[in-house]
Amino acid sequence: MKLDAYKKVTGIVTLRMLRQLAKHLKGAKVVHVNSTRQGGGVAEILSWLIPLKRDLGIDASWEVIEGDEPFFALTKIFHNALQGNPIDASPAALRAYEETSESNAARLRPLLEEADFVFIHDPQPARLILHCPNRKGRWFWRCHIDASRPHRPIWKYLAPVVQRYDASVFSMVQFAQPVNHPQFLIAPSIDPLSEKNCDLPQEEIGLALESFSLDPARPILTQISRFDRFKDPLGVIAAYRLVKQFMPVQLVLAGGGASDDPEGEAVLSEVRQSAANDPDIHILLLPGDAHRTINALQRGSDIVIQKSLKEGFGLTVTEGLWKGKPVIGGDVGGIKLQVIPHHTGYLVHTPEGAAHWIRYLLQHRPLREAMGRKGREFVRENFLLSRHLREYLTLMMGFKLGMTDRLMAG
Ligand code: UDP
Repeated sequence: MKLDAYKKVTGIVTLRMLRQLAKHLKGAKVVHVNSTRQGGGVAEILSWLIPLKRDLGIDASWEVIEGDEPFFALTKIFHNALQGNPIDASPAALRAYEETSESNAARLRPLLEEADFVFIHDPQPARLILHCPNRKGRWFWRCHIDASRPHRPIWKYLAPVVQRYDASVFSMVQFAQPVNHPQFLIAPSIDPLSEKNCDLPQEEIGLALESFSLDPARPILTQISRFDRFKDPLGVIAAYRLVKQFMPVQLVLAGGGASDDPEGEAVLSEVRQSAANDPDIHILLLPGDAHRTINALQRGSDIVIQKSLKEGFGLTVTEGLWKGKPVIGGDVGGIKLQVIPHHTGYLVHTPEGAAHWIRYLLQHRPLREAMGRKGREFVRENFLLSRHLREYLTLMMGFKLGMTDRLMAG
């Protein structure tokens, strides 16, 4: 069984508990819907979650909504607005969104209406619920983004849709919203055995660095991210430049596109312009399945950076910590759950702050190593798929056994 492979990492007791919980959900039909198979944290999670649920005897499946460019341009506006940007959508764009939701619902309706549990990830597929009037199961809106201070007009448009769900799930308490259904907190997690996170031979790491002309004898700073303004790649370049005045560092900015993210190209060209052909800034455009390469880059780095300005969770932070790297991250969203200042890394607000801690860490190798060890254990305790699966199973069981209804009834 797939789950058995995790014994070495999580311990046998954890796996027994998962099997015990899953007994109550044997044969349950569970559908997850998001907007891309590759690129970004949600796809990363669903790619291991579905096979493991199936392994536990749950009839889980993963569906992806389809849309054209205007649809994803509009849903990116939702994404940016929920994370606080004051941008609005035109009535025509909203109509196109509504029509695309309807056509996706026509395709998915039989599956969704029959399911015992439906998890709809983020705003893109959120309207499916409106077109499934004969739904038999419980529906959850799983919001992965930092919705702590949404731009009000867009939230006002989305809120009545969200209200239709039986519950919503957020990554941290600060993101919860005033809606009249139960809200649950489930933090994301990584798969420690995936290509992205498994141990790698030192030789493979060396070859990966060599293939990108990175010099292992000089410090390497890495940020892996979609080219998105909230990930602040320009701020990372600014921090690198401040450090570069004193130390011969190299910077890796690696990211590929996600099919539901239409802004990537514009941001990438801003990044290229800012890098101005500096041979020590390595802008890598990686294919969607470059998991092992990303793994090697993270492992070959001295410090992992995630200088986001907004962040739902930041799986790249988890990935860096798991690889024993200190992480310098923006003091926002889910990064704050993971970067514990002076223990697993440092939280920063500015390029100057990032540069300060980069220099400090590069000057203190034993500290880097000690932080790296702590970071790995911190992830083992809190952010591995076993905890995540347990919380999903518990949530479904709570609804199946009517416990949540009783709680709501007071
Ligand atoms: N990722 C990837 N290729 C890329 C950029 C990112 O595989 O070119 C992965 C990255 O390793 C992580 C996920 O996509 O697993 C990004 O998740 P995160 O929560 O950090 O950010 P999101 O993109 O969901 O905002």
